[in-house]
Amino acid sequence: MDNNISIQNCQICGNNQFSQHISCIDYTVSRETFKIVKCNSCGFVFTNPRPNENEIGKYYSSDLYISHSATKKGLINALYHIIRKRTLKSKLNLLNSLKTPTKELLDIGTGTADFLNYMVQNAYSGIGIEPDNSTREMATKKYGLKILEAVNFYQLQAMTYDYVTMWHVLEHVSDLEGYATNIKRILKDDGYLIIAVPNHESVDGKHYKEKWAAYDVPRHLSHFSVGTMEKYLSKHGFKIVQKKPMPYDGFYVSMLSEKNSYKNGAIGILKGFYWGLLTLFQGYINIKNYSSIIYIAQKE
Ligand SMILES: [Zn+2]
Repeated sequence: MDNNISIQNCQICGNNQFSQHISCIDYTVSRETFKIVKCNSCGFVFTNPRPNENEIGKYYSSDLYISHSATKKGLINALYHIIRKRTLKSKLNLLNSLKTPTKELLDIGTGTADFLNYMVQNAYSGIGIEPDNSTREMATKKYGLKILEAVNFYQLQAMTYDYVTMWHVLEHVSDLEGYATNIKRILKDDGYLIIAVPNHESVDGKHYKEKWAAYDVPRHLSHFSVGTMEKYLSKHGFKIVQKKPMPYDGFYVSMLSEKNSYKNGAIGILKGFYWGLLTLFQGYINIKNYSSIIYIAQKE
């Protein structure tokens, strides 16, 4: 039995002609190799073939997969946790800067719910969606927040939310069409959709190529650039009103990418730091160079 499924038609433009983009090893969990292809028509880059729905779960089962756990082993992990704390503050500032009549928030892929909890502490009311059972139960217990299973996402009430946030989540989503359509339905007309994803056309992405940690196959199914995110959102009736960098991601991703190149220890960390810095400088010049980008969109 084949555990993989192949996408036959581009999820953005529908074209069925793809070219090989790159092949990547799953460094975090399985050590298996996955192909990433590029649509010949719109340039959308995605993992293809990819594990099917029944198989994908096992690729998330690693202590090393830190966005789903709370371990603090190693310098890179420690750095990740420091950055996450700082990032919470800047996310709050970002949402505060987007004026809305009320502050109803839906956080999709809420994980350990640190962001959702922080926002609730700062006068937002919100709920989360988290597909992983143990993560959801842990977060619910820890913070007493309302966190729903993924199936509930499609049953949420229409025109309810001022903000829908997806922090490094959309790249994991297989149903791109269904997500965009449903978000459009549940978001208020003057609400904001906020999507943060890695940018494979970044300085660090182009430098590390198949070793780039943010390809993160097979967990990352879609690999967006500014161009393909614009096409995806516009297809579903959204326009991008602002783009913002996630300035620390370049450092974290570059250091992890050095680890993927078997350069552990001080040299790897220094080289990773150097590429993080270079990505940051180039990002100041042009946002398309940043390792990760936050897209702020509204209904058209
Ligand atoms: Zn396409």
